[in-house]
Amino acid sequence: MGEHFKCPRCGNEDLNKIGVLNGKFYCRACITFNGQEVIKTKFEIKSCDYSLTYPLSESQKKISKQVVLNYCQGKDTLIHAVCGAGKTELVYEVIAHVVRGGGKVGFAIPRRDVVIELFNRISEVFKNNVVTKVYGGENEHLDGDIICLTCHQLYRYSNFFDLLIIDEIDAFPYADNSVLKNFAIRSLSGRFVMLSATPSQETILFFRNHNGSILTLNKRFHNFPLPVPKVLIRIGVIKYFTLINYLLKFEKENKQVFVFVPTIAMCEIVYKFVKEFVKNGEYVHSKRSKREEIISGFKEHKYNFLVTTSVLERGVTVKNLQVIVFNADHNIYTSDALIQISGRVGRKIDAPKGDVIFLVNKENDEIQKCIENIQLSNQNL
Ligand SMILES: [Zn+2]
Repeated sequence: MGEHFKCPRCGNEDLNKIGVLNGKFYCRACITFNGQEVIKTKFEIKSCDYSLTYPLSESQKKISKQVVLNYCQGKDTLIHAVCGAGKTELVYEVIAHVVRGGGKVGFAIPRRDVVIELFNRISEVFKNNVVTKVYGGENEHLDGDIICLTCHQLYRYSNFFDLLIIDEIDAFPYADNSVLKNFAIRSLSGRFVMLSATPSQETILFFRNHNGSILTLNKRFHNFPLPVPKVLIRIGVIKYFTLINYLLKFEKENKQVFVFVPTIAMCEIVYKFVKEFVKNGEYVHSKRSKREEIISGFKEHKYNFLVTTSVLERGVTVKNLQVIVFNADHNIYTSDALIQISGRVGRKIDAPKGDVIFLVNKENDEIQKCIENIQLSNQNL
């Protein structure tokens, strides 16, 4: 070919991912992202009041104000907050600031389950503004004051968002997905705010090198420490019976449980075994039909326990939840993933404590790193 081609949508310039059709170049890296794109409407000053169900803590207030200040000074912000610190609440003020000025706010997260949860939450808080949700299979209302969407759907927007919030992506640019990274950059006309509990060194460097601001919040909003995982070494069938004993104990105490397992196959095996002894459970993984129904059923206390793969690692908040990680020494669990999972526990102000149990064949470095990291965060309280 010899000629140079750079895809205007996703920035791809890899010749292996560029095709030629009727003498014209086309990009194969982003060809699967096709659908309606949105044109930005004119600025329109709006009122935007939002309501919180409880007041922000002093440290939350400080960060919330600083994010607005950064925005006004044209700076990007990385908010590094421990799991359960109330990260979402920290951006309400900057969202309101942008919406009042007639700007567009995008709130992007990797997974659709979490988009739905976020959408419900944001609509509840910003009652008088237009809040929409966009993900694969849900793309009827693409425009709004606040658009909650999966990162994949960012391709529909170009030079659009005055504020783009990206949550729960631990690496910028999104680990190794340059297509998504370019969609995010292309969608932005203003500044972005990133939220992370475990930012990578790369992310931190990116913000340092680009005149961004890094704000750290070590406290959970209720000021209780993060639960430190308890590691239990159990082999073979004894591991299963330890799990069953814990499930029965939590059932008696009327506490719901997530049982994390490393793979889809394990998910079904563990659930089949356990359900002979403990009733009232379910299982979910990425290929399970009616997954969303099961998850909302769990929130309504229809089930006592859920056996789950990493699909519930982030985002879903349940009051008084306990967590067991079955085979926490499996090599898919990095220390960051284990920190995220442990952070599922004790997130509610009226139930700030709980148990995190790792059932393992043996301890490994990732488990140790996870525990050290949590203990360190707790020391800074
Ligand atoms: Zn492309």
